[in-house]
Amino acid sequence: MTAWIGAKRIINAYGTNTRLGGGLLSVEVTDAMAAAARGCVEMPDIQAAASRAIADATGAEAGIVTAGAAAALMLGAAACMARLDPAAMNRLPDSAGLPNEFVVSRSQRNMYDRALRIAGGVIIEVGMPDRLSGPGVRDASGGELAEAITPRTAAVFHLAGENAEPPLVDVVRVAHARGVPVLVDAAAQVPPAGNLRRFIAEGADLVCFSGGKAIGGPQTSGILAGRRDLVSSALVQMLDLDLPEMQFVAPPEFAPLNQLRYLPHHGIGRVAKVGKEEIVGLVTALRRFVAEDPDARTARWMVRLSALHAAVPQATLLPDGAKPGLPLLELPFADRTAAEAADAALRRRDVPVHLDASRIRRGVLAVNPIALDDVDLPLLAAALKECCG
Ligand SMILES: *Cc1c(COP(=O)(O)O)cnc(C)c1O
Repeated sequence: MTAWIGAKRIINAYGTNTRLGGGLLSVEVTDAMAAAARGCVEMPDIQAAASRAIADATGAEAGIVTAGAAAALMLGAAACMARLDPAAMNRLPDSAGLPNEFVVSRSQRNMYDRALRIAGGVIIEVGMPDRLSGPGVRDASGGELAEAITPRTAAVFHLAGENAEPPLVDVVRVAHARGVPVLVDAAAQVPPAGNLRRFIAEGADLVCFSGGKAIGGPQTSGILAGRRDLVSSALVQMLDLDLPEMQFVAPPEFAPLNQLRYLPHHGIGRVAKVGKEEIVGLVTALRRFVAEDPDARTARWMVRLSALHAAVPQATLLPDGAKPGLPLLELPFADRTAAEAADAALRRRDVPVHLDASRIRRGVLAVNPIALDDVDLPLLAAALKECCG
């Protein structure tokens, strides 16, 4: 198929994983992106429009579209370190002398927090996640967090999740009492849709979301939402600033930028630039996501899985399989070896099939409906019957 320039297309029943190309965009989103590709706009102006849409959806003061949640994390970290100081912006990722430490509960360390270090941040771990060791019950306490906050602290970093310790509300209380912001990675925390507002409501100063996961935006889009001063700092560190200084006038959404002592040069985020097409695509997807009734969305996903269930009756349909409101069709195998054999057979097919293999060690594969195309359901059903039946 010419659409794939010679590459092999796959059936993605794993999820919105970046390495599998992310999810599918709705026709409304691709139409909006195609229209945006045929016009030009000043980037601060379209980010201001996005800010209004993100503020509506999240309850935050301001927001920008970034090149993914990881880029949003890097920019959020840069904002927490440089604030509205153009000299500091010009210096990053050299953060010597700036508050550059990000305090984090050790159990929340993850492969994406490198984005903080790319910006020049230094990660300071607290706690002992023996809760995850089997016999243990402890993790990190608010007291440990509080003592790790010093004049060198740029922010407390929090990885949002059902089991995050300490809970965000406690982290916010401790951080704000010591005058430092809280930066939250909530990249994959929707659904439930209510999480778009939740972390801001709980007091987070900056929150990152992926645009290309359940929100249904372009794979290379993300959201950074939060305090206007910090979001403005992040924006100016991403914008292309190759213009005469006097021509730069920030829109009201990013008013703090009009107070900068001078205009910085291209910032650290210039390597993670976002295009007008992605901005329009993300905002279109976000509006659709917020407008759709969550139960209707779950029902839509359930219909896909029910259609497949007939091919593999031994599977279990879980309404909240991956997260609240995201159902999964779980395929049990005798053991890990059997699951690995089925997974390999599926990936070897003419149209390779990728199932959710995150629990393959326990002998479980699953069909995640989120990135499936309905036209592929008969082919997928046949593949499941053959390889897992
Ligand atoms: C997916 C994910 C990211 C990265 O998101 P992108 O939009 O792909 O950049 C960061 N953090 C967590 C926890 C994630 O799940």
